[in-house]
Amino acid sequence: MGHVMDLVVGSCEETGERLSDRLEGTLRGVRRFRVSAHLADCDRCRAVLNSLSRAVELLRELGETSFVPPKSASVAGIVVERIRRESG
Ligand SMILES: [Zn+2]
Repeated sequence: MGHVMDLVVGSCEETGERLSDRLEGTLRGVRRFRVSAHLADCDRCRAVLNSLSRAVELLRELGETSFVPPKSASVAGIVVERIRRESG
């Protein structure tokens, strides 16, 4: 059972790498399914997605209309760091 679920549900690492794609809506097919299945089952990744989503919205409200999350696993850290600087 565990092995079967591993094929369908992405890992935390994989999900983290694809959160920015998911936010941009560019994730398709099996990858999107794996990320969605993982998020449904993992509080930690869901919390990261929520904070990342809020951070991106906030940056857009601040006038960063061209802001695109970098495609890296550390995207959440970059965004948080940026907000810290802008809010003083
Ligand atoms: Zn996870």
